[in-house]
Amino acid sequence: MILALFLLIIVAVIVSIVFVLAVPGNSEDHKKCQHCGKRVKIETVVCRYCKKDLVDLPYR
Ligand SMILES: [Zn+2]
Repeated sequence: MILALFLLIIVAVIVSIVFVLAVPGNSEDHKKCQHCGKRVKIETVVCRYCKKDLVDLPYR
């Protein structure tokens, strides 16, 4: 019984973690850095992760 309860808690934790990771952030004010792929604010001109200049791509 205790083992079943323990497994249930583990599953619940894993599901919640997956759910949080799967939900994308608000993409309205964010864009993807074309160099490193990290999400940065739309008005960012220098990526804070890879320090490269961000130029808006003609396609998005
Ligand atoms: Zn970057």
